[in-house]
Amino acid sequence: MDYSRLHSIRWWNKERIENAAVMVAGVGAVGNEVVKLLALIGIGRVFLVDLDTIEASNLTRSVLFTQADIGRKKVEVAADKIRQINPDVKTAVFPEDIIWLGLGALSRFDVIFCCFDGYLPRFHLNHHLQYLGVPWVDGGMNARRELNGQIVSYQPSAGAPCFECHRSDKVKVEYYGLDAQLHRWSCAKSEQDAAAEGFVPSTPMMASIVAALQVTEGLRYLIRNSELPPRPGTMQIIETGTPRYLIRTLKKNPTCPQHPAEPITDVYELRGVNSDQTTVRDLLDLLEQYVPGGEIQIELFYDMVADAECDACHELVEVFQPLLVFARKDNPKRYCPKCKGELSAKNYGAAINRQSPFQDRKLTEAGFRRGDILKVNTLENPFDNRFFELTGDIASLLAYR
Ligand SMILES: [Zn+2]
Ligand SMILES: [Zn+2]
Repeated sequence: MDYSRLHSIRWWNKERIENAAVMVAGVGAVGNEVVKLLALIGIGRVFLVDLDTIEASNLTRSVLFTQADIGRKKVEVAADKIRQINPDVKTAVFPEDIIWLGLGALSRFDVIFCCFDGYLPRFHLNHHLQYLGVPWVDGGMNARRELNGQIVSYQPSAGAPCFECHRSDKVKVEYYGLDAQLHRWSCAKSEQDAAAEGFVPSTPMMASIVAALQVTEGLRYLIRNSELPPRPGTMQIIETGTPRYLIRTLKKNPTCPQHPAEPITDVYELRGVNSDQTTVRDLLDLLEQYVPGGEIQIELFYDMVADAECDACHELVEVFQPLLVFARKDNPKRYCPKCKGELSAKNYGAAINRQSPFQDRKLTEAGFRRGDILKVNTLENPFDNRFFELTGDIASLLAYR
């Protein structure tokens, strides 16, 4: 590609843009526009995350998708289109729920563009990025007022506002309700449900406005010069009915629980661990060499559901999924294999040790996430935490080509 017109821009930083690795989380209406812009400007590496396949109803708002693509994975088609637009850009894809993406993978991005519908993936992403300090730019179209859009820039740090700082109790209940009371996803009748079914009313016009501002905010974190400095905590609101453009500066909410006292630092890379081959027992044996003198405890950054019980016939069923994945209404593992009744999580939690009953399972079969970072301590020293990454998974997760 000939970038001469971009390179003649005074503040353009060719090296940082060419060397950047960014994630686009959600390749729907806004994600399509973000991807298009990232390809045009020649971002070095783009990692695409989306579980969904292309449906006919997507085509009116998705510049990258055509009739012939219906039924294919959104991330696969978007990656193909990026290569057509600009062969300089390398891509990798994750065609699964973002909840399965480990912290080690998330830590390797310079900036993340969040383009999902609905709240839950945002709560999830925010929770993880607060530990990692990776900046992210959230872009969304208002599900009730399709003429409005919103873009917010976050740089996780002790004093900066996060996504959760200004959420209403009503939407927090959906997220925390899962943890605290195991509320069913189906109880959360909300925009999330509408989004899951593809019913968010939206226009391609608003998608391109949101994406343009979102990519501009993201570039600030890559370029970081005086003409385009990062603006963490800045919220932009676009209203196109009676046209208005509003800027708000968010402050940290001192009561927000998502500001960890102990961010993830000094991560030890377990290069020989491959989650498809290493068992829980192998991992505990290995960790014992690095953290001697006690009984090893692993803490995950999410609740993992080991098994669940049928509400109707009380059948006990193995699950091994993160709680947020298990709770999805469209998750086949949420229903009883015998009577099709709904299951309730029975044994679930974030702690794994020698007493966990699934020692001989491979990590992926035991509900671990590929490329994750684990918090490790001992029963004797529960506050002396160390961080270990399942590094053997990273190369295959982030297989840019
Ligand atoms: Zn917060
Ligand atoms: Zn049953």
